[in-house]
Amino acid sequence: MSYLIELKGVTKRYGEVVALNNASLKVMKGEILTIIGPNGSGKTTLLRIMAGIDRPTSGEFYFDGVKVDGGNMSEIRLRGTMVFQRTALFNATVYKNLAYGLKLRGYPKNEIKEKVKEVLRLVRLEGYENRSTKKLSGGEQQRVSLARALVLETELLLLDEPTANLDPKNVSIIEETISQVNKERHATIVMATHNIFQAETLANRLAILLEGKIVEVGTAKGVFNFQSKYLASFARLENVFLGTSRITEDGTSLVEIGDGIEIEAAVEKTGKATIYMRPEDITLSKIHTASSARNTFKGRIVGISDLGSVMRLRIDAGKEFIAQITKKSFVEMQLNIDIEVFFTFKASSVHMI
Ligand code: ADP
Ligand code: MG
Repeated sequence: MSYLIELKGVTKRYGEVVALNNASLKVMKGEILTIIGPNGSGKTTLLRIMAGIDRPTSGEFYFDGVKVDGGNMSEIRLRGTMVFQRTALFNATVYKNLAYGLKLRGYPKNEIKEKVKEVLRLVRLEGYENRSTKKLSGGEQQRVSLARALVLETELLLLDEPTANLDPKNVSIIEETISQVNKERHATIVMATHNIFQAETLANRLAILLEGKIVEVGTAKGVFNFQSKYLASFARLENVFLGTSRITEDGTSLVEIGDGIEIEAAVEKTGKATIYMRPEDITLSKIHTASSARNTFKGRIVGISDLGSVMRLRIDAGKEFIAQITKKSFVEMQLNIDIEVFFTFKASSVHMI
């Protein structure tokens, strides 16, 4: 049996609301499957059903080939762990939070200690055992929540938007942890996310959910060719450009994206190409410094959003680019709407889809 989960025509109603509408989906053992969809499309509902927390109104749910019903739901709950969107840590030490599930499962104290230590290393919070969860930053709390699920070492992990509203450093630690757990422990991971880039970097496959319906399932590359009308209908595609690529003598490629803009990418590709850059990989300056750097452009700030410790800037350079910088450098550089800036990114930060 190569499927860990199989949903067949699953519908979930909450009174008048149809949260899932005849959804069918298979999750293969050992894969990372990403669920993308706008708010209210049914992502959380889908994960809760896979976790054995909620039951479908109609349709069938199989776990490892066995049909799940009221009688064996508690068994399923032991084989998967869900990390909820809003963290609900106990107001106690990190250790108590992580040890709790293991205690319930009857592990001896020394083994619990060992496992907690190991999982804290995994989420890069070594030595945090005696910290109070209340005093941790949002990102650290989210990593403890993830650790609390990982410490149970279940074969299935269900992650509900694990990196929403976090700063880039915490996002990358969580992404690396997810990837490591999948590779080393062969855990099957289903993750809901808004972040299409994350879906592309982490997932083997992704499913698009719209109004409770699974409208597309495929490999990240397949779904991302932007012929996908569904994806385009809701995803804010930032720093994604279609262009024509040619190979240079340096073993890189130059991609012409229109409006006189050529972008260098550290891959070799000829012909039509879709490229993107992560907003946090773009650096800004007010003066033109590295003149030899190919991917340096001049633009005007046309939009600013404050995300707490980081700021996202829309920059008009003929094409619109999104850059993300720390609030500290935003303030230091005295940036504002209408200010002209130079922005740069490495050829190796240009991803090709
Ligand atoms: P997502 O996670 O994609 O934002 P949800 O699965 O949370 O979507 O919700 C899907 C739909 O079901 C929404 O319209 C939501 O309001 C509704 N819904 C979810 N949970 C409940 C609930 N417990 N009671 C009533 N309606 C709910
Ligand atoms: Mg949700």
